[in-house]
This record gives sequence, C-alpha cells and structure tokens, in this order.
Amino acid sequence: MKILFAGAGALGSRFGYMLFKNNEDVTFVDTWGEHVEKIRNKGLKVIIDEVDLGNFYIPIYKPEQISGKYDVIFVATKSMQLRPMLESVKHLFHEDTKIICILNGLGHVETLKDYVKEENILIGVTVWTSGLGGPGILEAHGTGKIELKQVKEINLDRTLSLVERFNDAGLNIRYSENAFQSIWHKAGLNCVLNTYCTLIDCNINQYGSFEKNLELTRAVLNEVTAVGRAEGIDVKQEIIENNIKNCFPLETAGAHYPSLYQDMKNGRLTEIDYLNGEVSRLGKIHNIPTPVCDVITLMIHSKEFINNNK
Ligand code: NAD
Repeated sequence: MKILFAGAGALGSRFGYMLFKNNEDVTFVDTWGEHVEKIRNKGLKVIIDEVDLGNFYIPIYKPEQISGKYDVIFVATKSMQLRPMLESVKHLFHEDTKIICILNGLGHVETLKDYVKEENILIGVTVWTSGLGGPGILEAHGTGKIELKQVKEINLDRTLSLVERFNDAGLNIRYSENAFQSIWHKAGLNCVLNTYCTLIDCNINQYGSFEKNLELTRAVLNEVTAVGRAEGIDVKQEIIENNIKNCFPLETAGAHYPSLYQDMKNGRLTEIDYLNGEVSRLGKIHNIPTPVCDVITLMIHSKEFINNNK
C-alpha cells in the first residue's frame, strides 16, 4: 500500500515517521525547498519527548518532481493550502485512492469532493500535536488520538482495515460516527481560543483569568452552535464551553499560545477563513446572522495585512 503525505510539516512528518518506522511504504511531498533538501540529504531528524530518535530517510519530493499512483493520501497542509496542494498532486490519484483529512477547521469535505468520491474521503479530527524545529527537524511531545469517519459509508471494509493498519503504527485512530460533531466541537474551541488569544495578545491561561471570559466565549459559540445545527450537526455548546474551561489551567494547556497566534507572530497567513470565517459564510447560506464571527474574521485579516503576513 503506497501512502503519500501531502504536506510533510509538523503533523504530516510525525504521522509519516510513525508509519515509516512501522515498515509502511511512505512518501512525502512538500513545497518547502529547504525542508525537502534537508530530509533528502540528511533524513528527517526526529526528536520526541526531548529524545533524539535519529534520522530517517523517508523519500520526499516537490509536487512537480513526483509521479506514480498512491493508494492513500494523507493531507497535512494548512487549510488554505489544501486546494492548491490537491491541484498539484491530483495526477497521483487512482480510481480508489483514499484521502485522509484531519486538518483543523470546517469546510474541507466540500474541497475534497472536487477530487475524489465521497466514499474515498476519510474526514476527522486529531488531538495529536507536533512541531518543527527548523527544516528537516521534527520536534514533538506526548501522544494523541484521531477520530475518523468515511463521508459516504459504503464499502467500509477497506477503511476499517486501514484504520487497523495505522493503529499498528500507533496512530490511535477510532472510527467514529460522531466525527462531524467532534470536528465542530474542536472548531468551536478554536474559534474562541485561537482568535481571542491572538487579538488580546495573551496565552490561554490569561484569557481564562479575565472574569468575563464566558461572555466573550458565548458571543462566538452562540453563532457556532446555531450555524452548526443548521448544518445538521448536533453541536453541544456546553461541551465546547467545558473543553475551553479545561484548557485554562497552566498544568493543562494554559501556558500554550494557540496555533493561529503563532502563525500570526511568525508572519504566516492564518486558518481564520476555515474557523470563524466559515461560520460566517455558512451563516449567510442559512440566514443566520453571525456579527461576532464576521468582525473577528475581519480583525484577524486586518492584522495579517498590517503585519504583511504571507
Ligand atoms: P505545517 O505548516 O507545519 O505543515 C504544512 C506543510 O504543508 C508545510 O511543510 C508546507 O510546506 C506544506 N505545503 C504547503 N503547501 C503545499 C503544497 N501545495 N503541496 C505540498 N505541500 C505543501 O502545518 P501543521 O502544523 O502540520 O498543520 C497541518 C494541519 O493540521 C492544520 O490544519 C493544523 O491546524 C492541523 N493541526 C496541527 C496540529 C499540530 O500540532 N501541528 C495539531 C492538530 C491539528
């Protein structure tokens, strides 16, 4: 089974390494020249829980250099890079190529449907985390899990055996009927913490220490919940609020600056259009006003613009 990681950044290289180490046929494709060169010439340096596990020569290409057909494509770019990436690797799909997508945010199924049949889309959400310590260097901590669902549930056998095989490598995937609910719950949390921490310029603990944080949280979540329900998802606002509260203590995620905060600080474009921006877009379709998400999306874009983020 030929597995391609399309986007071999923080998360892609972590999962790719786990499968490669378990003797799977893994290939990386990435547009970042320095990263590609480093992995090709010196191997991917893997540091997990501060332990240097060595360098791993996982085949890696730029999209224009790669050919052949792949059975599974694990997409692992940022949300706004998903469509351009799919365009550049679509020649690598065959009739039954499965795509696994655990990107943060909302709306990815619509994009993926333009490239493969719905029964070949495995959509989900993960709480694994990962980072890069520079080109060619994977630095990660802890463990995690993945919830996954085949969008159109016909011929599930291949998906279930894929899940089993990936679990042999430690990915800890659970096939879940509730994956869409979990995607919305995680997106709801990100619509609150990613954006407010970025706009207020604080970590999660500092956000939680403001006595009226629940007012801010609910201003966003009331919209997320209404729009999610209009989409047919059983969004449970109290679960999202609780998940957010559980992040506040320093011993959980309190000291953490969310990924959108880090993207903003590092001069990169953010995933806002797939969080609050997608809630606004869907709100318009369902005639649900989303003034808070509208303004937050504009504020994040204005900050990207002023910072000249790319
Ligand atoms: P990343 O920026 O580290 O990796 C993305 C990679 O995709 C980069 O190496 C980039 O060069 C590559 N890329 C961009 N355009 C491409 C293209 N056209 N073709 C091929 N490669 C291309 O991002 P990440 O942190 O790995 O995040 C990926 C997704 O996973 C995001 O949606 C993120 O929100 C989500 N996520 C990340 C984490 C985490 O801890 N890193 C945790 C949960 C979810």
